Amino acid sequence: MMPLPEAVLFDMDGVLFNSMPNHAFAWSHAMTQFGLQMTPYEAYLHEGRTGSGTINILTQRYWGRDATEEETERIYQAKTQVFNTCPEAKPMRGALEALTAAKELGCKIVLVTGSAQVSLLERLESHYPGFFREELMVTGFDVKHGKPHPEPYLMGLEKAGVEAAKAVVVENAPLGVESAKGAGIFTVAANTGPLEDSLLRDAGADIVVPDMTAVAAVLRQYETASAHNL
Ligand code: CA
Repeated sequence: MMPLPEAVLFDMDGVLFNSMPNHAFAWSHAMTQFGLQMTPYEAYLHEGRTGSGTINILTQRYWGRDATEEETERIYQAKTQVFNTCPEAKPMRGALEALTAAKELGCKIVLVTGSAQVSLLERLESHYPGFFREELMVTGFDVKHGKPHPEPYLMGLEKAGVEAAKAVVVENAPLGVESAKGAGIFTVAANTGPLEDSLLRDAGADIVVPDMTAVAAVLRQYETASAHNL
């Protein structure tokens, strides 16, 4: 077990909110409108990538080239339109427990998401009151490079003023794990979607657990371990 962490960095989609089924559904339906085939399963593989990055993987496969800026905009708009018809994603079961465990360890709680919704903080505050602060949030507005680039997690460390060795990341997607490991951070992967555990392990996850309730248990072990070391 690692020394008691000073910060826990949480991803959002698929970690704090059960929003990935909506994203996967929206991607797959929007792509079909443009003659591009993307299964919901594949959407999970690309989770964390920027919208244009995801679109280019498909246009390269079917059209042999990157999408133009105009095409990207149209496809992304179509995705957003389908997404907006989906029911609002519920908080992920066990996430509140994991946040509480992090808080009880005395850790700073940092949000690191590629999402760029203006209402993010209000939404977090309504479901997880008192856990998040605007100055400890990295969103799609802050970074130049999305996951799997390490920039989002490096920026999270910088905002928290904590070294990589004293932080823990909670992620659910292979590209998110890759980003966190690229930043040198111990990473717990909660496999809340349909992907195989091996994909998260191959991306570099230090621990793979099935859900957020298990993440809470992992975090509580730090407390037990440090009490034993006294
Ligand atoms: Ca995620």
